[in-house]
Amino acid sequence: MVSTQKTIGREIGCSGIGMFRGGTVSLHFKPAPLNSGISFVRVDLPNRPRVPAHVRALSGNYKRILLKHEDAEIESVEHLMAAMAGLGIDNIEIEINGQEVPAGDGSAQLFVEIFRHAGIVDLGGKKKVFIVKMPIIVSNGNASVMAVPYEKGLMFSYTLDFHGAFTQQQTYDVEFTEENFCREIAPARTFGLSSYIEEFKRLGLGKGVTDDNSIIVHEDGKITKPISMKPAELRFPNELVRHKILDIVGDLSLANVLIQGRIIAKMSGHSLNVQLAEKIANIA
Ligand SMILES: [Zn+2]
Repeated sequence: MVSTQKTIGREIGCSGIGMFRGGTVSLHFKPAPLNSGISFVRVDLPNRPRVPAHVRALSGNYKRILLKHEDAEIESVEHLMAAMAGLGIDNIEIEINGQEVPAGDGSAQLFVEIFRHAGIVDLGGKKKVFIVKMPIIVSNGNASVMAVPYEKGLMFSYTLDFHGAFTQQQTYDVEFTEENFCREIAPARTFGLSSYIEEFKRLGLGKGVTDDNSIIVHEDGKITKPISMKPAELRFPNELVRHKILDIVGDLSLANVLIQGRIIAKMSGHSLNVQLAEKIANIA
């Protein structure tokens, strides 16, 4: 699997509301040279601290990914990270004037569109590739995520199973190509289970949730908008499992390597996904 490093063709920006904390945050994306990696720059803080998008900066993973370097934090990076992984962007500087990455419509669509608008530029140098030669497994109770050898490239498989509640079992397999990512995975939106609504409120999270950036799945299978509770249309019949793959793509990209292998997950969330990313980063 030979693949070369990429960045964006020109500077571009966007702004929006962070789903967990609320408040408008602006992002400004800048092309970056070969081997410089992906980093966030908190332009709203003194001395503009830089936070690398790497597992070593991980600081938390409750329902979203939190990165920290010294006192600077960046959270909810996973859908943006997934968009960059899907488009093969390895080097970029992301100026941000707040703590949380905007949610867009709850999927990675906004970021894919922005990067495609800016253009993707080949920098020539090889990407670091990690070939899975032995199974690497992390699990917790009935949740698991593993990387196993797969010669053809990179493939993701996910099984979502709430044992009859919320939604019927959904399994989805997808070969990871730019085209498949942009068409089949990037548009899948964030969802919350109705059983978490109270916990979110208690933790003071979800301040930026709107009817346009997430969907709620109720125990009886109904799917609604989160605020008005009006029925919500799904973008794919199995949008939920596709979003779980979107999250894994973003989470594993924090290992900063292109994986050659098959990722097989069942009921895993950010917590397990980043444990696998850490293991891969340690071996690679
Ligand atoms: Zn997500």
